[in-house]
Amino acid sequence: MKILMTSSEAVPFAKTGGLADAVSALSIALAKLGHEVKIVIPRYYHIDREPFTKLEGAMGVPMGSGIEEWCAVYKTEMPGSPAKNPVEIFFIDHEIFFGRDGIYGTPVEPDFIDNPRRFAFFSRSVFQLCYKIHWYPEVFHSHDWPTSLVPVYLKYALRYGPFEKSVSILTIHNLGYQGIYHKDNFNYTGLGWNVFYEGGFEDWNMMNMLKAGIYSADKLNTVSQSYCEETKTQAQGFRLDGALLSRNIDYRGILNGVDTTIWNPQKDKYIPKNYSAADLSGKAEAKRELQKAFDLPNNPDIPLIGMITRLAGQKGVGELFGPAYGSAYSICHDMKLNFVILGTGESWCENELRKLSSDLSNFKAIIGYSEKLSHLIEAGSDFFLMPSRYEPCGLNQMYSLLYGTPPIVRRTGGLADTVKNYNETTGEGTGFMFDDLTPQAIYNTIGWTVWAYYNRPKQINEMRKRGMKSDFSWDASAKKYLEMYKDAGLQLR
Ligand code: ADP
Repeated sequence: MKILMTSSEAVPFAKTGGLADAVSALSIALAKLGHEVKIVIPRYYHIDREPFTKLEGAMGVPMGSGIEEWCAVYKTEMPGSPAKNPVEIFFIDHEIFFGRDGIYGTPVEPDFIDNPRRFAFFSRSVFQLCYKIHWYPEVFHSHDWPTSLVPVYLKYALRYGPFEKSVSILTIHNLGYQGIYHKDNFNYTGLGWNVFYEGGFEDWNMMNMLKAGIYSADKLNTVSQSYCEETKTQAQGFRLDGALLSRNIDYRGILNGVDTTIWNPQKDKYIPKNYSAADLSGKAEAKRELQKAFDLPNNPDIPLIGMITRLAGQKGVGELFGPAYGSAYSICHDMKLNFVILGTGESWCENELRKLSSDLSNFKAIIGYSEKLSHLIEAGSDFFLMPSRYEPCGLNQMYSLLYGTPPIVRRTGGLADTVKNYNETTGEGTGFMFDDLTPQAIYNTIGWTVWAYYNRPKQINEMRKRGMKSDFSWDASAKKYLEMYKDAGLQLR
């Protein structure tokens, strides 16, 4: 199959979140299965063009009101792609839209005012790119609101000639971000105003780009089965539950995979000694190193709970660290355990973490972003805490399972799909789960975990090994995407 991934992010070139990892890893996994995959992203200012090949001639992109935007196109080979069937990545270089710092914004302007125009232009430009390189994909696969106009352009303007048999897929990585802007921006898309209503842009008299993508894509998915169900409810649907329900038969959940070249305790270069389920001695060494890194006394026998997170409401940090009501203080005060956390985010939370670190001897926080420390926490902790309010897929709980660090999670989204709750009678399970996001539920579940650590060591040891055998390969996910592509093609014919 010929597949064009259209995205605003792809590692290693542009990343703000898990979307960037997923786009690149999925593309490579599809190429390994023998498919012809290309990726296209904007060329942001921070991306060095020097090592790339420039395509000859400028490319014109017709937008609304008779405007023709001109841009350059660069390309290179995606690092890590199979030598026999490499994935090519193209960069759309438009000085005014992308020749500035920031992907979606900057600290002073978090959401650029011209984002609707930047990403409408980008979505339209991918079709011009196909004409330019004389390559016409069977599948246009877009991701999140920035490229959700690709399915709209295909459906309402371009499904003829070389694109007559092309289908469109939209993957929703996080429904919390929809690209909602003033409807005055709609003229720039070049689409007729009938499409504003029919095509699903209209949202309380504003223009909602993700909603339009949901209306237009031939097939839709999100990144776990449970999140797919949750997004169709009023509670978790971010006002798009109705739109998603209306596409119910075309909407499914496909779990993301894990990049096991980076996240594998047998090969991890950031931990003091590699280990496997057969020999966990390296894990004990990682615990020692982790205690040292967080300035905790060396003690192999005390349960160590780790956390790596964006400090944002989505991650349950209110219930855990909220001044006056969060349960972290009581947990650390009442229980014989150590708690370490690495994260950055909302400033109230950063301040609270600093305060807890100074008030409690067994609570330590490092405010910052560190790849190395994140690997050490996954390997050296006994348990990993993720009390998310919602979690489309979640990566850290999968890393934890692979590192023999049973996760303590709220039963939601991808967490519900990847973790199995502990059963203290049979010893089954791969982690500890709770349902209601309340400070009390977090307290109780950690209490249960700590009890099991001290009183059921054999079962916990077995649980670690069971988690390490989990299969989160991208290969399995890629095959499910292929099924969806085929279903979309059949539907069109
Ligand atoms: P989300 O994309 O919602 O933030 P995920 O669990 O899907 O949550 O992915 C988050 C990724 O970012 C994980 O790989 C996690 O380890 C990493 N991460 C988050 N915060 C930090 C940090 N402060 N330092 C290092 N890695 C971090």
